[in-house]
Amino acid sequence: MANNLISLMAAPKHGHYDAIVVGARCAGAATAMLLARAGLKVLAIDRKPYGSDMLSTHALMRPAVLQLWRWGLLKPLLKAGTPLIETTTFHYGDEEITIPLAASSDLPGLIAPRRTVLDRILVDAARKAGAEILHKVAVGGLFADTRGRVRGIEIRAAGRTAVRVSADIVVGADGIGSLVAKCVDAQPLRRGAVSAAHVYGYAPVEPGAGYHWYFRDGIAGSLIPTNDSLACIVASVPTGLFDQRFRLGHARARMDVLETLSPTLAAQAARAPKDARLQAFRGVPGYIRQPHGPGWALVGDAGFFRDPITSHGISDALRDAESLARAILSGSEAAFAVWQQQRDMIANQILDTTDAIAGFDWTLDDLGERHRRFSAVLKAEVQALAGQPMPARRATASKPSTYRAPANQDGPPADFSRNRTGARP
Ligand SMILES: Cc1cc2nc3c(=O)[nH]c(=O)nc-3n(C[C@H](O)[C@H](O)[C@H](O)COP(=O)(O)OP(=O)(O)OC[C@H]3O[C@@H](n4cnc5c(N)ncnc54)[C@H](O)[C@@H]3O)c2cc1C
Repeated sequence: MANNLISLMAAPKHGHYDAIVVGARCAGAATAMLLARAGLKVLAIDRKPYGSDMLSTHALMRPAVLQLWRWGLLKPLLKAGTPLIETTTFHYGDEEITIPLAASSDLPGLIAPRRTVLDRILVDAARKAGAEILHKVAVGGLFADTRGRVRGIEIRAAGRTAVRVSADIVVGADGIGSLVAKCVDAQPLRRGAVSAAHVYGYAPVEPGAGYHWYFRDGIAGSLIPTNDSLACIVASVPTGLFDQRFRLGHARARMDVLETLSPTLAAQAARAPKDARLQAFRGVPGYIRQPHGPGWALVGDAGFFRDPITSHGISDALRDAESLARAILSGSEAAFAVWQQQRDMIANQILDTTDAIAGFDWTLDDLGERHRRFSAVLKAEVQALAGQPMPARRATASKPSTYRAPANQDGPPADFSRNRTGARP
């Protein structure tokens, strides 16, 4: 559908797709890749440029690394210069516990790729599988039929009439401020109670460095080796403390937190060039949203957010991308119910164990136990992932099998966008 109205920007090649994915990063590009690998006609759209950076401290946990290995993307990431991380050290006050990561052929270690590297490799893999991916194009709304079933997206160029592109399913992989979630009025199933702020920058680091996680009386920090021989160095505090202490400038307040945590960590951070930029995230309480309804689904942060302190967002995004792809390919509503049940179970465990750390209501004595609980959730997640088959179309399906509403819900397209006209799960 090369339409004049959007001729000034990249335009979708077709007027209809099996699936349209809004957002093309960890959750969106992974979903597009898996659906395209299974033979579906997929369009993914992101308003940001290809290979652009975004807020993230990069640390991948075991489930994310396992997924990337299963999808054949671990090698390209290592080839792109992402360092292999072979130890994790927890610093509880002055106590240090170093854990070597048990290497195996599928999990040689952990990695913390820059988002400019990880998101690009996911997009490249999705394109290679046949997905059409447009960057620097914003989705402005959805449209639905008269029964409220989502039928497609609207792309709006400044000052021009919206252009519609239809799909059997629209997947919102559009992050924390998800437009898709707003348009379909996806209901919160749970809201977390706490939030933490994270302020980070990059400094040179020696080769072979491991992950370091620091904790001391109501503050936390980390050193995360990433690409380009740099480490991401993070200061984490409760949002309330951030509002008090970081108001007058991030650099000095961050350095104070790092010095209190560990003079060695502060010295490492001080190796950054004087004019190096810092990134700050003030914090958002976690949430779990209803993840699907007629003609739509949410994946990644759009459907489930947990504080970054446990570095599990990308693991969640990749895991849910695969299980959502499986549900879409199965073509039955029952498969979506099963997907949600599994997602809710793991999301609730991750949110519980993350909030137990992000709430900063621990003492150094009980923090180790909270980390052990989180680690047990990760272990169960890795075991479950390892036994999953790759998403594939049912052998009997004669055409792309996607989630479809009952026939009597079909009808002519009607306007359905941010006004929340009442499409309900
Ligand atoms: C400070 C911070 C540190 C973090 N550190 C870690 C970490 O160390 N490890 C970890 O695993 N996780 C971490 N996370 C979490 C992780 O970044 C997210 O869980 C992950 O990015 C979610 O991926 P996503 O694809 O769902 O959404 P996003 O990565 O947010 O991508 C959404 C995309 O949708 C696009 N989009 C939005 N609206 C539209 C629209 N209307 N039209 C077109 N495109 C649109 C956006 O441009 C964006 O590119 C961190 C998060 C924060 C905030």
